[in-house]
Amino acid sequence: MSVAKDICLGGIQKCSLIDFPGKVSCVVFVTGCNFRCPYCHNPELVKNNGSPHRRLDNNIILNFLKQRQGLLDGVVISGGEPTLQPGLFAFCQKLKELGYAVKLDTNGTRPDVIRGLLRAGLVDYIAMDIKAALVDYSLFTPKDSVASKIQKSIQLIMEFASAYEFRTTCIKPIINEASVRSIAEMIEGAMLYALQRLRKTRVLRPDFFENGRGTCEDSELHHLRSIALHFVKDCIIR
Ligand code: SF4
Repeated sequence: MSVAKDICLGGIQKCSLIDFPGKVSCVVFVTGCNFRCPYCHNPELVKNNGSPHRRLDNNIILNFLKQRQGLLDGVVISGGEPTLQPGLFAFCQKLKELGYAVKLDTNGTRPDVIRGLLRAGLVDYIAMDIKAALVDYSLFTPKDSVASKIQKSIQLIMEFASAYEFRTTCIKPIINEASVRSIAEMIEGAMLYALQRLRKTRVLRPDFFENGRGTCEDSELHHLRSIALHFVKDCIIR
């Protein structure tokens, strides 16, 4: 089995019960990302832009998935940022040919790719990160202005995705009442918004957390959730 253009895969989790809602899934991790989130817990994937010696053969992954047909329900494509991969469309087609449901994790900066995948029916669930209020995105991607792309991706997902979630990793002081209100207004009417606790193991920039920056406490998360619930259909803390 071969794909027209490979995607750069840097890792695989062969079985997960928590990454694809309602499905037993395999998670594949692409290399390379256009963001540098201080709390990213896959720093080796973000820094590695697909150097050949770190790259997993797509055919081996697809053959593994062929052997797991009937045992796994879905495949999560995570990263890194999957939408940067030129071979993503073809890879998703192969997953569909094998009968898998596909979940895409994305930072939402490539709305054209999201549109193409949704139009072709190649993605069943999209989880899009909303890192912060749009005015604070320079913390995550200093070189680019991504506001219009983020807004476009939100619009496409809410209009065309059959199942989706938006999610924010809650770090103080970037995530607060005002930023959650701003984010929730952007996704008003959304099916699901997840407020995520920070996992500080193996982060991209440990120095970032030396000045009192850290995860929101549970009481703060519950307060933020109550704000978000004025705008979205459901909001969870995870
Ligand atoms: S958290 Fe996601 S978007 Fe941010 S650097 Fe890591 S892979 Fe990229």
